Amino acid sequence: MRVTFVGTGDAFGSGGRAHTCLRLDHAGQTLMIDFGAASIVGWRRLGFSFNEIDGLLVTHLHGDHFGGLPFLLLEAQFVDPRDKPLTIYGPPGLRSRLSMAMEAFFPGTTGIKWRFPWEIHEIAPPSRVEIAGFAVRTMEVVHASGAPATAVRIGAGGKSFAFSGDTAWTDALLDISADADLFVCECHSMAPKAPGHMDWPRLRENLPRVRARRMMITHMGPEVLVGLDTIRAEGGPEAASDGLVVEL
Ligand SMILES: [Zn+2]
Repeated sequence: MRVTFVGTGDAFGSGGRAHTCLRLDHAGQTLMIDFGAASIVGWRRLGFSFNEIDGLLVTHLHGDHFGGLPFLLLEAQFVDPRDKPLTIYGPPGLRSRLSMAMEAFFPGTTGIKWRFPWEIHEIAPPSRVEIAGFAVRTMEVVHASGAPATAVRIGAGGKSFAFSGDTAWTDALLDISADADLFVCECHSMAPKAPGHMDWPRLRENLPRVRARRMMITHMGPEVLVGLDTIRAEGGPEAASDGLVVEL
């Protein structure tokens, strides 16, 4: 499985990073996880085409994780015409929130006659589903977004990838990342700050309990970006970056 970090920024694009988006490739199939309002910039920068996406999974309903979907759908309709169906999986509420976002950003677009069929599957955590040949498992985490927020685990070809989504520390992360080949965890601040987000001291305290084979942090706020050397010196994980590719 190949993991491409399309966007590793926080909601405010700290460090000039694109909003959260991960691309997973295995056996000719492509799964995209999250697509924030500013993910399309990272996607374009890497020269990717939306026609390459076979399935899409949204971890939670915040604008920096799903807010780019109206742009993605319209791009596939008008700019780089998509010729195959698209299925979007995400938490309960995704259908109505996406519809609201489309009408707010581009009025009238919910009534378009689409050139490609697309549909939404709302999956309540905990769920196990197969998306484009990837085995997907979701668990609820601690992050208020008007709908359940999830961490996800993706398996394919005997490899496994886990992603925290956005969350404060919860032991669900130990479960979702157990023995994963790569666990990507959000880390937003260097001290307890924003509710529903991870800070480095809380993550550090729990690191000895994490059983993933490799771990990286993402969704870094400005303090974390300037504190990366401190985190490494304290035995912390490496940081992901936009455009980074990891082969599992
Ligand atoms: Zn969020």
